Amino acid sequence: MERIGFIGIGHMGWPMAANLAQAGYHVSVFDTDAARAADFAAQFQAVAVEMPVGLAQADIVITMLPNGQIVQDALSQGGAESLMARLAPGAVVVDMSSSAPMGTRQLGGELARRNIGLVDAPVSGGVARAQTGELTIMYGADDPQAVQRVLPVLNVMGAKLFSVGGLGCGHAMKALNNYVASATFAATTEALDVGTKFGLSADVMVDVLNVSTGRNFHTDLVFKQHVLNGKFGVGFAIGLLAKDVRIAADLAEALHKTAPLLHLMEDRWDQARDARGATQDFSAAYLAWTEQNGS
Ligand code: NAD
Repeated sequence: MERIGFIGIGHMGWPMAANLAQAGYHVSVFDTDAARAADFAAQFQAVAVEMPVGLAQADIVITMLPNGQIVQDALSQGGAESLMARLAPGAVVVDMSSSAPMGTRQLGGELARRNIGLVDAPVSGGVARAQTGELTIMYGADDPQAVQRVLPVLNVMGAKLFSVGGLGCGHAMKALNNYVASATFAATTEALDVGTKFGLSADVMVDVLNVSTGRNFHTDLVFKQHVLNGKFGVGFAIGLLAKDVRIAADLAEALHKTAPLLHLMEDRWDQARDARGATQDFSAAYLAWTEQNGS
């Protein structure tokens, strides 16, 4: 079986790496939070390693990090001693983080010069689906052989796999999905804020939306479970969602596409992040915006 190096065992990486270890893969983990990596190793018969030397023997390196810049740094820091310099030719890197697609293409070029493959394979489904191994995985790659190598590994973590195009297309798809999701959350928040001021019940509004055309992922799974009860614990940070919306906005700009709603969402999520703090759950943007509105 392929030897897996897993970098970044946060909210998402932990259950994803756990599923790989439980499927019988030899998993070596690295996280800048060394105590977390040690806990993981103890629970799942994995190995907590130092970077880069501890991952040099990996056949497949999976990154699940906050953003693409951190992924690039993790691979290239140390120059001649970096992880990308130490990996054997033929190894494949799978970036499952939500990274910027232009950066992914650049990184792919650097890795290809060393005969290392790159597949971008970001995910949706959140922590719940990461735990059950039922993530949606949208992957992009220019190298079909690299894809063949990693598909069995992706199938352990995901239930719905989509080949979405060449290198970077997975990351573009992911950012655009999160833009759409972020807009439905913002629109639902505004509707509830206006409706409750008029005298409607927020609970009833969500019930009606859920059997009407306004239904969306957040009316279905987030508003009652995390917002209206004050829990705010979906497990996805505002800072990460604001980053994703920015990636989508940057992509639109790079492609010279006018996307006014996208830029409005970029501003709104930046505001929410600044008001509540980057590490707060994204659902707490509801508080940022309704408080700003005097509610
Ligand atoms: P997280 O902040 O919980 O986890 C990130 C982990 O990376 C942390 O454990 C952190 O210590 C570690 N880390 C940071 N810098 C590092 C470095 N240089 N080297 C090694 N480890 C490092 O984030 P998350 O929620 O798990 O998200 C990870 C990625 O997945 C992000 O790109 C995010 O946008 C994306 N994502 C998250 C969700 C979600 O619901 N949380 C869903 C889909 C995609």
